[in-house]
Amino acid sequence: MPSRSAESLEPSVSPLDAPPRETVAAWSSIDGLVHAFFGRNGGQSGEPWDSLNLSESVGDSPAAVGRNWTRVARSIGTLEVARMTQVHGNQVAEVAKHRLYPGECDGLMTRETGIALSVMTADCVPILMVAPAHRAVMALHAGWRGTVAGIAASGLQSARSSFGIDAAEWQVALGPSIGGCCYEVSSEIADDLQQRWGTMPEAWQPSGRRGQLDLRRANEQILIRSGVPHEAVSFIGPCTACAHRQYFSHRQSGGVTGRQASLIGFRR
Ligand SMILES: [Zn+2]
Repeated sequence: MPSRSAESLEPSVSPLDAPPRETVAAWSSIDGLVHAFFGRNGGQSGEPWDSLNLSESVGDSPAAVGRNWTRVARSIGTLEVARMTQVHGNQVAEVAKHRLYPGECDGLMTRETGIALSVMTADCVPILMVAPAHRAVMALHAGWRGTVAGIAASGLQSARSSFGIDAAEWQVALGPSIGGCCYEVSSEIADDLQQRWGTMPEAWQPSGRRGQLDLRRANEQILIRSGVPHEAVSFIGPCTACAHRQYFSHRQSGGVTGRQASLIGFRR
């Protein structure tokens, strides 16, 4: 059975000039939930970070990045944004009102309301998760290193041990990220992936010593094999390299570009 891959909405622009974003249609019925996958448009940065760059560490003007964050923060309401320093690992940290920045990790989780967890990407997979019965949320960063290291399974395990939430209780959205169409990698990466998580014909199309890797399909398989129901996983938005006018793409840009943010949290 294929994933629900056609749920993305048209980018919406509010009268307050909020930046375009994608959302999960099925999540609009979850009371108090706020979430968004932002793209590259709707900000104030100049080339090559045009225009909604939200990273301070890619060479962009700090003033422009600050103005972009103000736009994003305004568009998600009163939630306070929690951020992390992403390092392509598999550590997930719990954040709280008094601890919005846990340092180096690749996943954030919380059961507190009033906090928006954020993840920054430009080809890597932004994974947003919600367990409605627990009013818990999680945001994960999954590039190829984090995918092989099992950031998705690690997030589920962290939430089980810290919050007592079972994998079957999560709903998961895999946001705009590079597709197999545009992501050729060494077969050693796929060998590592499949040695650890099992064979993945859905995610890997080999061609000699290289092949096409689909990071979203790989993370979907890891989530399902870790206990998330197949129907609870959604794909939101296009391939970032194909849609590089709407999304920052590290690979398509040659490495000099901005970072887009994805956020999730519950209103207080
Ligand atoms: Zn593509």
